[in-house]
Amino acid sequence: MSNMKKYETDIVVVGAGNAAMCAAIAASENGARVIVLEKAPESEKGGNSTYTHGSIRFAYNGVEDLKQIMPDLSPEDIETSDFGTYTEDEFYEDMCRITNYRTDPELASILTSESFETVKWLQTHKVRWVPIYGRQAFKVDGKFKFWGGMIVESVGGGPGLVGALHEEAAHLGVQVLFNAMATELIHDDLGVKGVIFKHNGITTEIHAKAVILASGGFHANPEMRTRYLGPNWDLAHTRGSRYNTGEGIQMALNIGAVSCGNWSGCHSVGGDRYLPDFSEGFQKLSYPFGIIVNAEGKRFVDEGADFRNYTYAKYGRQILEQPGQFAWQIFDQKVTHLLREEYKSRTVTKVKANTLEELAEKLEGVDPVGFLHTMKEYNAAVRKDIPFNPNIKDGRYTEGLAVRKSNWANTLDQGPFEAYAVTCGITFTFGGLKINNKTEVQNVLSQSIPGLYAAGELVGGLFYFNYPGGAGLVAGSVFGKIAGENAARFIKKNDLILDILDKN
Ligand SMILES: Cc1cc2nc3c(=O)[nH]c(=O)nc-3n(C[C@H](O)[C@H](O)[C@H](O)COP(=O)(O)OP(=O)(O)OC[C@H]3O[C@@H](n4cnc5c(N)ncnc54)[C@H](O)[C@@H]3O)c2cc1C
Repeated sequence: MSNMKKYETDIVVVGAGNAAMCAAIAASENGARVIVLEKAPESEKGGNSTYTHGSIRFAYNGVEDLKQIMPDLSPEDIETSDFGTYTEDEFYEDMCRITNYRTDPELASILTSESFETVKWLQTHKVRWVPIYGRQAFKVDGKFKFWGGMIVESVGGGPGLVGALHEEAAHLGVQVLFNAMATELIHDDLGVKGVIFKHNGITTEIHAKAVILASGGFHANPEMRTRYLGPNWDLAHTRGSRYNTGEGIQMALNIGAVSCGNWSGCHSVGGDRYLPDFSEGFQKLSYPFGIIVNAEGKRFVDEGADFRNYTYAKYGRQILEQPGQFAWQIFDQKVTHLLREEYKSRTVTKVKANTLEELAEKLEGVDPVGFLHTMKEYNAAVRKDIPFNPNIKDGRYTEGLAVRKSNWANTLDQGPFEAYAVTCGITFTFGGLKINNKTEVQNVLSQSIPGLYAAGELVGGLFYFNYPGGAGLVAGSVFGKIAGENAARFIKKNDLILDILDKN
């Protein structure tokens, strides 16, 4: 230990994804010297944030607000788009509804009320936003109508967002150490004083006045998944970053932090059955326009319960619970033009058939008799008198089925039919550390651990069972920014006290 290399700074940030870099930028612009420790090599920087489309959810009151975060929005964009509004109250209500009213009211309130200003703040720090035409809006009568509260994405998607944040941090003088895996917090009775980490395999210490943990959850750790999420979660496909294996959470628990939130819950989606872990283009999210069947040929979820943004993050678990942990999504010609980009990939597991009978024979692992029975029942139950409209919850439902389809229920009767084999892919975990409104990490005695802050995926308490699309990035940005600001404030206050003590 005596030859251990040592660093010193004001604030150490653990992780280099969206939450971490927002924290680093905010701390730096508030006068602190910042060093970021990132476990991954530089070529894989940015964790799950890099894997996103950069789609972000925030509250806005109309196009005038949007012009503030997208100064390049052209008169044609405005003319040809119906952006609607998404108020703070609507965002807050979505957080409550989607989490079965379990979300922490204080954190959800901060998230929703700070979301717009934070997205605007990002725009002043090199991040550029554009409307998500196509994926979040369909064209009706020549106009794009947006739905679901998530309307913009970062230019260049996740890599664009992470690249912009790293560029801005570097410009502000933040140093990032790659291949730097945090393993332990340095602390005493007065609080946290730094981090021990492996830098290129060598044990190294960094001493600091405050530490901000932003190193993601444990979705890429099959042992922790099985321990906390339950049996079969070791079998789930792993999406996103291979580096989010839970050390940040564990390091804090080891010094007395209290666990918080939905430790048995996670964000998981349906995606290609045979793609290897960490693959791009895994998810298959156009299921609201078709149906999903299991190995018995039976439907098991309401594919049209709500807009895709509000159901996709919980339907992965439903697939994991089916026999063999797989399912097939089925579409007919009336809707295949609505399928998202990811269905066009060459690696997709797909079969095509002219008739349902032919399709039944091609669905690997599915009982053909059960499937044809389901199709007959389903087609007969569709309320064809209600018009189909993909832009709104159209209320076109099935009548009398054990598993109802509540919206967008079209008959499946026009070949050629297309079917896609899916399994469950885990995106990120919901359980983590408890923070207060200043992002100070709480201990088992409900006190703040001095000098320890947290933001992003490793914070518990916001998401339970499900998640509204685009809330992961905004949560990381809102609480990352608050963590950076408060950690900088904390060290200034401490420096002032030390100064006064010195003078006396
Ligand atoms: C495929 C995919 C698509 C998604 N799409 C969206 C979307 O469009 N919109 C949205 O809002 N959300 C999306 N999400 C969710 C979103 O990615 C996360 O909620 C968010 O990025 C989490 O940010 P974070 O900064 O907390 O974690 P991350 O971005 O994962 O960053 C954590 C960082 O910590 C590092 N790290 C881990 N352990 C250590 C350690 N011991 N020491 C040092 N560093 C460590 C990791 O390498 C990583 O860089 C998506 C996720 C995936 C996987």
